[in-house]
Amino acid sequence: MSTIPQDNHLATALPGPRAQALEARAAAALPRAMTAAMATFAERTDRGILEDVDGNRLIDFGSGIAVTTVGGAAPQVAAAVCEQVGRLTHTSFAITRYAGYVELAERLNALAPGDAPKKTALFNSGAEAVENAVKIARRASGRQAIVCFDHAFHGRTALTMGLTAKAVPYKDGFGPFAPELYRVPTSYPFLDGLDGPAAASRAIAAIESQVGASRTAAVIIEPIQGEGGFIVPAPGFLATLQRWCADNDVIFIADEIQTGIARTGAWFACEHEGVVPDMVTTAKGLAGGMPLSAVTARAEIMDSVPPGGLGGTYCGNPVACAAALAVLDMIESQGLLARARDLGERGMERLRGWQETMAQVGDVRGRGAMMALELTDPRTGAPDAALTGQVAQRARAAGLILLTCGTRGNVIRLLPPVTMDDSLFDRGMDILADCLESAIQDRAEA
Ligand SMILES: *Cc1c(COP(=O)(O)O)cnc(C)c1O
Repeated sequence: MSTIPQDNHLATALPGPRAQALEARAAAALPRAMTAAMATFAERTDRGILEDVDGNRLIDFGSGIAVTTVGGAAPQVAAAVCEQVGRLTHTSFAITRYAGYVELAERLNALAPGDAPKKTALFNSGAEAVENAVKIARRASGRQAIVCFDHAFHGRTALTMGLTAKAVPYKDGFGPFAPELYRVPTSYPFLDGLDGPAAASRAIAAIESQVGASRTAAVIIEPIQGEGGFIVPAPGFLATLQRWCADNDVIFIADEIQTGIARTGAWFACEHEGVVPDMVTTAKGLAGGMPLSAVTARAEIMDSVPPGGLGGTYCGNPVACAAALAVLDMIESQGLLARARDLGERGMERLRGWQETMAQVGDVRGRGAMMALELTDPRTGAPDAALTGQVAQRARAAGLILLTCGTRGNVIRLLPPVTMDDSLFDRGMDILADCLESAIQDRAEA
């Protein structure tokens, strides 16, 4: 197992010679739709550092899109995977069952919010979990309509891209979309200035007038919207919505694919608001990089689907289950929920400082190791996607893996592995601060 010094270092400009050679082969062999944020190729990872094929050590503020929360190739996870892969790689759970799947379901049932008995089914990707959550909700409710929100992201498959809000690049030219999906306004405090109950009333009014409670199978919502811009809803928004769902026998689905499993400093982001969803989807942080997702819901909802109604050839793969069990053990034994909260405090303090000194930093927000800054024009308040792109480009060239997001393309998001140490995190924040300042400065001089 590799250990990499936890300091950043550029041996070459990015991309280095080996990465350039791979880039040329990729351009010839892969569809041009498969773009990448970083102009390099990965060789290995360890906690907060990704080393590329040219020996450059990059600071990881992306965790492979919120996946390697416990660190990439974490030794405990790698050991569990190696043990499992040498013993049993696949049977298909529908043919011959194995203990790891059951154990992981038990763990997720116990961790998911609420005291009611729960059951879990495993899948491969986030979108596949959302697809199955919708199937189960329709079967359980006997209704068809699914309500989603402005700025939502729920995946890129035929059903889930209809739930996803942003047209380019996720939906443009890929229609038609699945029927019986309805989009209503969300809570976006920086833009709408509404308190939580008011934003929820607006959403509920839209559902009641455009869909009808008695036709609505489920409301699906990210407790903190991810790809849409790391939007933390105003306090009370989720709880008000959840209460309306309960009053109207509408299934409340929390899509915790990005927020779940320690990312926000809790097992589930719903817990920060004391909200108990009927159903929850998880994926990204669940298995340390192995493809795995889960739908966890109250037992009677899950058992509304008759025998044989759920599954798939690879779903709940034994190697992925072994990785997930090791991830859950790591979070528990190493206190990683608290560590995510610490990183969040450390990061938000810096972000708030930048907001005070740089007028272009319109908003800063987040929970735990899921933080963001939204860049806007100080005079008009308009989103500044160009500046956002420039900052990201500079940071990436300087060796910081940095992701953007937002329906309006003007949000920089921070998703460090929580096993990153403080000094490396601070160095990453220093690089980001320099890139912000220099991009703003160059803008002023242009
Ligand atoms: C990433 C994501 C998905 C889709 O997951 P994939 O594994 O990419 O299919 C769904 N919902 C949310 C909230 C996500 O962040």
